[in-house]
Amino acid sequence: MSKKVVFVSILTTVVFATLIIYAFSPRLVFINFAQKPIPVPTVIDPNFITQVNECLIPTATVYGYTLRITAGFRSMAEQTQLYQEGRTINGHIVTEALAGRSIHNYGFAVDVADVRRGYNINWTRLVKIGAYCGLESGGEGDLPHFEHRAGLNTADFATGMRPPPLTLPCSIMDERAKANKPLTLKDLKNCGAPKFS
Ligand SMILES: [Zn+2]
Repeated sequence: MSKKVVFVSILTTVVFATLIIYAFSPRLVFINFAQKPIPVPTVIDPNFITQVNECLIPTATVYGYTLRITAGFRSMAEQTQLYQEGRTINGHIVTEALAGRSIHNYGFAVDVADVRRGYNINWTRLVKIGAYCGLESGGEGDLPHFEHRAGLNTADFATGMRPPPLTLPCSIMDERAKANKPLTLKDLKNCGAPKFS
């Protein structure tokens, strides 16, 4: 075999191997070139918090609850601190989520409590109100928690994926919020909202 044939064979092999690697793992080949750095969230998502402030809280008020937000956006450092509580820091364990594993870290979750009654809330009713506002409940293990993830997990959020924006179920809600006026039961009726029980 001539040197030229050997050279062409090696070259062909290298070119094909590169093409195969590129075809099957473009991220691997161009990871540092094609991918922009993923910005670290620093605030609560404005669309998400609008659903909380203009729908969940005012609707709950109609039903006799004065909700306050006890937790909203939580930075990665704050999540780490919280995770250590009850572990390396004295106190009770308050979370099972490491930094980056809570929807709070991406600004798409709030925890709520009633100003006077604390957690003595008809959660079944509040979960229904939350669902009406497009918000998902944290479920039995985390009732004060409402979020918007639309099927995404925290790994998805970490790659920069975000759920589609929510819309208020009724334009009256936005009008009341803008006018700084309370939402009423009549408003909810006009909105076509179900009776939450
Ligand atoms: Zn929460």
